[in-house]
Amino acid sequence: MFAVQHRDPGSAARRGLLSLYHGDVHTPAFMPVGTNGTVKAVPHTMLEEIGFNLILGNAYHLYLRPGMDVIRQAGGIHRFANWNHNILTDSGGYQIFSLASFGKITEEGVRFRSHIDGSAHFLSPEDAVDVQAELGSDVRMCLDVCTPPEISYNEALKASNITTAWALRSRKRWKEKESPLPGALFGIVQGNFFKELRKRSADELMEIEFPGYAIGGLSVGEPFPLFCELLHFTAPLLPEDKPRYLMGIGTPEYILEAVEMGIDIFDCVFPTRIARNGTVFTSRGTIALKWEKHRLDFTPIEEGCGCYTCSRYSKAYLRHLFKAREILGPVLTSCHNLSFLFRLVRDIREAVSSGTFTAFKKQFLAAYNGTQA
Ligand SMILES: [Zn+2]
Repeated sequence: MFAVQHRDPGSAARRGLLSLYHGDVHTPAFMPVGTNGTVKAVPHTMLEEIGFNLILGNAYHLYLRPGMDVIRQAGGIHRFANWNHNILTDSGGYQIFSLASFGKITEEGVRFRSHIDGSAHFLSPEDAVDVQAELGSDVRMCLDVCTPPEISYNEALKASNITTAWALRSRKRWKEKESPLPGALFGIVQGNFFKELRKRSADELMEIEFPGYAIGGLSVGEPFPLFCELLHFTAPLLPEDKPRYLMGIGTPEYILEAVEMGIDIFDCVFPTRIARNGTVFTSRGTIALKWEKHRLDFTPIEEGCGCYTCSRYSKAYLRHLFKAREILGPVLTSCHNLSFLFRLVRDIREAVSSGTFTAFKKQFLAAYNGTQA
């Protein structure tokens, strides 16, 4: 299912091929987030044209709306959304703890109220596997307990123990339950900001044996140096021959750091979220299109970008769309930001192949942070 093809001589960065039911994915790979079976404001054809063949969907959102009866009758999420490439689904753990108004964890599962209509629900780890099997996603995630930063060691230990118990039950269900489409199940390393618990969580999950492993509970608002410290500690704990997924990162600095530590896939709402507010990536950092200085700027967001947006429209026009609150504005900026990240990650893969990743990272960040000589 996963093969490492090249290793960077100067770091833990690697290039690989992840073979999933709906096609091969070149890694490292960024996954755009399609919470509700759609990457907000971006038509599927645009995603295909950029080159994405793996996106993320949220089991929590799809389970609540449209509901599993609709998904079942449609024949799964791929057919429902008419997306014929890969989908990874998040189990819902993170959303239950961040969105639902009431989340109560017991060893059996989690009770919560829908953030949409307040209705009461119960989700066990087995249910989370079943829901994702019905969605028919290509990669499925175990239900885990997500904890906020700054909790006590004992609280983190308890959450980590439940996560491991749930992982064991999830894997059992995944093996037993017949799924209309095959999908891999990934375990999620938790442990909050305690290294000892991170190690323990990784060891316990590896013993259960999953086709891939994710690192959860990082990039949740902690400072960048702390994120790096925990990433540098956790990533090497994961097996060399399995895909490694770092959940919730999607800026150039975080992506480069993650790849350097041997991470293969990552996702984040950030690139499309800032795009909908008129902020776009460029090789020299982000810019806000609403700035007055772009009023008469008839150049594209980035010369040479070549994306759908940059090959057709100027910053002045895009600024105008945002000022006039036209729907096309967020469509075009989302397209550019996703194209920018796709190209960055493609360049990263090439740098890993040619053994020049460290130099590439340094050069990219110098330009991006404006510290280039
Ligand atoms: Zn562009």
